[in-house]
Amino acid sequence: MVRNFNISKSQIAVPALTLSLVLFVSACNGNSGRRDDSSVQDFSGPQLMGHGMASKTVSLTFDDGPGPRTVELSKFLKAEGVQGTFFIQGSAAARYPEALKQLRADGHLLANHSYTHPRMTASTDPVGEVRRTDDLIKPYVDQGHFLFRAPYGNWSGSVANILNAAGLTKYVGSIFWDIGGERVERADGSLAKAADWACWAEDDKIEKCLEGYMNETRDLNRGIILMHDVHSRTIDMAKLMVKELKDDGFDFVRTDAVPSVVAALAKRTNKGDTPPPDAYACPAGFTATPVGNAGALLCLSAEEAQGPFTLGMQASCRENGGGDACANTRWSKGLAVWLHGSGRCPAGSTLDAQLNACIEGDEAFGPFTKKQVARCKTLSADPDSPVCEGNRWSKAFLAGVGQG
Ligand SMILES: [Zn+2]
Repeated sequence: MVRNFNISKSQIAVPALTLSLVLFVSACNGNSGRRDDSSVQDFSGPQLMGHGMASKTVSLTFDDGPGPRTVELSKFLKAEGVQGTFFIQGSAAARYPEALKQLRADGHLLANHSYTHPRMTASTDPVGEVRRTDDLIKPYVDQGHFLFRAPYGNWSGSVANILNAAGLTKYVGSIFWDIGGERVERADGSLAKAADWACWAEDDKIEKCLEGYMNETRDLNRGIILMHDVHSRTIDMAKLMVKELKDDGFDFVRTDAVPSVVAALAKRTNKGDTPPPDAYACPAGFTATPVGNAGALLCLSAEEAQGPFTLGMQASCRENGGGDACANTRWSKGLAVWLHGSGRCPAGSTLDAQLNACIEGDEAFGPFTKKQVARCKTLSADPDSPVCEGNRWSKAFLAGVGQG
């Protein structure tokens, strides 16, 4: 769709805006609606909620932590036989590293709530927000269970598309909530609905706030409940809430067992059938990132792509006015993604099914897996040779290294 887009040398030498242009052009299905959509996969425009949950079932979710009492809450829930879902804010996790371990040990689900808690539709680095927190929580999350909740529920189809294009397709979201989104006071001063942060801002008693949560929960009879474990009073309230919900006959499930979330997880592009992108070797600062829908990978940073690129890509680069810069081993991300094309292999190369690699002439193109790089080093006469870390090996050498 951008075939008529001319390339200037400056777009090759400096980070280009081409990719973001492509993304924004294709992001016209933006939708910040708060509704389920059974067709979703990966990150989706519509947010996921608790419709379809069994009667008398709730999912307790805790955002913005960990905080000073998260470990205490984790142990309390475990003792009560309740598994919760904790949407971790990366910058907070850095302060309470032990909490993540404890949450996992107690059977709770760790999920992603960005790193700095921005409005995602206004963030200049939505990918970094998800990725930085992913780096912190992924040791404690099983494959196939990666959930994201946007701070403030601030979300759009454009943000979903950007995150998907960056290869974060092991995630689904954004996960919204059914209960706990707002504090609604009745004429008699009691609460029809409650939101913990709003209760504490009004200096409500814990019992009053709890009553608001319980009233909304009884009205809906099911749902995802939003709280924030960074507030000490929320910890005290959550303890009372668990007892009261149990007395009312409610069951508790983690958010990865909520039907809309289960369905989204089942439809993800990246189901772990292929090695996850971080199993591939890319230079520091670069991540193996899916390009198009055919299983192609490029080593990308926020702004650049790591070559070397195929002769076919270099020829198109020159045809489009890139000149000598087309021989560089780093291009702007937008240019590389565009000239790569939408197939499994970059323009000018073809897939060798036996080697499971893209071949041009007698050369094979990476990124190669970390296992292959390790084997390359053991097979090389010079284990420090830069060849193993590079993205272009001879076809014959790759055959010796093997798949993996
Ligand atoms: Zn939050």
